[in-house]
Amino acid sequence: MITVSQAKKIVDREVEPLGSERVEIAEAVGRVLAEGIVADHDLPPFDRSQMDGYAVRAADTANAPVILKLVGESAAGRGWRGTLKKGDAVRIMTGAPVPKGADAVQRLEEAIEKNGSVEILRSAEKGLSVVRCGAEIRKGTLVFNAGERVTENMIAALASFGYAKLKTGRRPRVAILATGSEIVDITKRPGRDQIRNSNSPMLAALCRRFGAIPESLHSTVDDISLLKKQVSIAAKQSDILIMTGGVSVGKYDHTKTALDGLGAEVFLEKLRLKPGKPMVFARLGKTLVFGLPGNPVSAAVTFHLFVRRVILAMQGASDKDCSSGYAIAKRDVRGTRDRDAYLPATLASDKQGRLIVDAVKGSGSSDLISLSRAQVLMSVPRGTIAKKGEPVKILYL
Ligand code: AMP
Ligand code: MG
Repeated sequence: MITVSQAKKIVDREVEPLGSERVEIAEAVGRVLAEGIVADHDLPPFDRSQMDGYAVRAADTANAPVILKLVGESAAGRGWRGTLKKGDAVRIMTGAPVPKGADAVQRLEEAIEKNGSVEILRSAEKGLSVVRCGAEIRKGTLVFNAGERVTENMIAALASFGYAKLKTGRRPRVAILATGSEIVDITKRPGRDQIRNSNSPMLAALCRRFGAIPESLHSTVDDISLLKKQVSIAAKQSDILIMTGGVSVGKYDHTKTALDGLGAEVFLEKLRLKPGKPMVFARLGKTLVFGLPGNPVSAAVTFHLFVRRVILAMQGASDKDCSSGYAIAKRDVRGTRDRDAYLPATLASDKQGRLIVDAVKGSGSSDLISLSRAQVLMSVPRGTIAKKGEPVKILYL
């Protein structure tokens, strides 16, 4: 059996980035940058007032209250071009340039303006309410690196530096093929011994979240020749093919046989992982193929550990792992003897401000209700017990 970290290396070895395309900034969230983002000017581009008030020389206000001569106005988009002299003040608005000679802004509420002068009621220390030119970032600085995923919080910076369009990694097309003679489409009422196909919609949603373009195909019954036909069609129209079901050792588990029959190169078929031991990873032509176990929890866990990293790597992402951290185990959780466990778990914080993790109580890898509540996977390495009160590693879903 192959460990999760060995399997990740094997998966990484097979992935090639798909190249790049330019997208509008409005479409950029979730996309992976294929170019470094550089500040094309200082930010702020001039000494900027943070307040509506009066630009002053701080020294003049040391013995406030003090009356200063009002010599002009600096508005946002229309600055005052003169130089402030001793005893002068300039009326100023938020976002307006602080005039030469001034080194502080006293806010409106601390001043009384009357006929050509202004009384500053409270002294202003040097720098008060002024953001100096370049204090936030200097022209020419690399703001974001190629390989970073664009978040909503990055958009203002991208816009500010004129990136109306961005070079980003191309999104992989992912075909999703559920297999199993018991599977019916979600629009159907399951007949005797049947269940609805919950894997395909779940995997499509997960694919979309990490930037891929999913297409769910009609599920197929456990029949080798039919499966081969479906797989070869699906592989031709996708960068990644995700199959679910039929990867185990049962009489009707045909995924691997079908892949072998089509001449696929199979890299992985047994992992030291719980849930997800029988995951298959292969290449058919140019398409990378995952055969995930049919159980919904196993399919979700193997997606997060492996499929997600291929989707991100194809887009050129530098960070492909689930973000991880540590939390305190709420109770003892026993791992398995020979496989590393990744258990769906929830987070809470206690009154001491500690992060507490607890494995979702449920009936194992088929329990999609317990999966629906999970926020993280709790890692319990083989042969160990996550001890109550002690830190354990968690992977964010
Ligand atoms: P298998 O991996 O084919 O041995 O299936 C393991 C379990 O997952 C069985 O109980 C299947 O009925 C179930 N299963 C397989 N495919 C799906 C699917 N697409 N949606 C929901 N459950 C599934
Ligand atoms: Mg099956």
